[in-house]
Amino acid sequence: EGLPNRIHEVIDRYVDATPDRLALIDDKTSLTYRELDRSAGSVVRALQALGIRAGDRMMIVSENCIPLACLLLAASRLDAWAIVVNPRLSPREIDQIRDHSGARRAFFTADVSQEAVDHATRYGAPVQDVGPLHGIGVTALNEETSAEPVEFDGSHQVAVLIYTSGTTGTPKGVMLTHRNLLFSARGTAGWRKMTSADVQYCVLPISHIVGISLLTMTLMFGGTVRLVAKYDPAALVKAMADEGITILNGVPATYQRLLEYRRNAGLPKFDRGALRLIAVAGAPLDLELKSRVEQELGLPLLNGYGITECSPGISGVRPDSPRADHAVGTVLPGLEAKLVARNGKTVANGEVGELHVRGPNVMRGYYRAPDLTAKAIDADGWFNTGDLARFEGDCLYIVGRTKEMIIRSGFNVYPAEIEAVLSTHDAVVQCAVVGRPVEGNEEVVAFVQLIKGSKATAQDLMAHVAPQLTSYKRPSEIILLDALPATSTGKILKHKLAESLRGQG
Ligand code: ATP
Repeated sequence: EGLPNRIHEVIDRYVDATPDRLALIDDKTSLTYRELDRSAGSVVRALQALGIRAGDRMMIVSENCIPLACLLLAASRLDAWAIVVNPRLSPREIDQIRDHSGARRAFFTADVSQEAVDHATRYGAPVQDVGPLHGIGVTALNEETSAEPVEFDGSHQVAVLIYTSGTTGTPKGVMLTHRNLLFSARGTAGWRKMTSADVQYCVLPISHIVGISLLTMTLMFGGTVRLVAKYDPAALVKAMADEGITILNGVPATYQRLLEYRRNAGLPKFDRGALRLIAVAGAPLDLELKSRVEQELGLPLLNGYGITECSPGISGVRPDSPRADHAVGTVLPGLEAKLVARNGKTVANGEVGELHVRGPNVMRGYYRAPDLTAKAIDADGWFNTGDLARFEGDCLYIVGRTKEMIIRSGFNVYPAEIEAVLSTHDAVVQCAVVGRPVEGNEEVVAFVQLIKGSKATAQDLMAHVAPQLTSYKRPSEIILLDALPATSTGKILKHKLAESLRGQG
């Protein structure tokens, strides 16, 4: 299919063809394609000297930066598995990943963030230079751990092990192969018509599948990735005006904060510079936010849908057919999709079913969890996303998640619908709807974060939503909180909210 075998190979042709083009820019420095190739090469030798072998797991605790990208490419060259971990995770969460993955060594890019330094210190990792990379904390973790077998066909070798953020419970280690990542990246880049002239702003963490995918797809087309360690809307506004950014990807919270910043800073409008495409994924898109972003940035906000287990690409709205609603677009070419009803039958067009997909971007499985893998992927290779969706023609809509669906007096309630209605109230910054079990039934409970200083009350919100929802969809209670618990990508941790209700009913 014309895809390289391993992710590090995507840069090969540009090292020859456009060696002086910038490949990576981070908060401190930049590398051309030639420099990136050389750096990755000397990191490979340094890793070999540290005893890294094919099939070893390498834990890399890092924010987005050039050293992280070099470690990733070097891991790929060595057939080692990279586990990129967000330094903002708690010590307990990082220890869990260390233990579950059996990583042989951990790397901390101590130069970039205080959190990474703190973790390195906790692990007693002496700071050293790894090849050309300065200030990396390295420590041995499980010296006796065995290497995973290396695949004969390199494209089926595991490239990264990603621990999901756990919005639904215990983190799972998703094994993604080189082919998984390359297929998804090329599919998404293809309909964005990416070229070597693109400069992609990568503010989503590379510890998350979307960050890895952005990095891969940009390098695959010979473009430049602007790696950002910590999101700061002011810096983004400056980069748009000065750095020739052409593509911006975010989660809804990225755009929310950008608009907030413009308002608070009193900027009359954005200077979008060379920006040509803005995309959003990762969580349900609020239509009010979408239309404000489009108005202020003067570009359609393209919604995309994916999941870690699919590397992550499943569907996206294409620039040549933008949508005014919250559709997540058409399914990636080469990927099959079907909607399944509770009785196991495929549902008709327009009806809601659970989305199953099959194709080259579906993960190898969950690491060290064959039972979970067998539950997620059936014998014919269909992966169950756990999302409820419907098709209108070939356009996909995400309705909610199976595990989040609330059944109230026999009626199905999709939290996303209630959240969308609540979000239309001016004072609402964020909200999350969860079920509360009460005597064999379920109640609808909404958690809401209001704009700072807002005087709105739960009663006001109730009065706002009531006329827009039939009675069984109306919240039994609306709870105001100063902040909602969220992951690094701004996704609300609903299971924490649901737990807080337990035993209350
Ligand atoms: P866990 O699997 O532990 O719950 P997670 O929820 O963070 O972790 P991700 O792979 O990061 O897992 O998120 C994928 C989910 O995000 C999808 O299953 C879907 O519910 C939701 N999602 C992603 N993009 C969109 C979108 N554009 N619109 C609506 N929902 C989306």
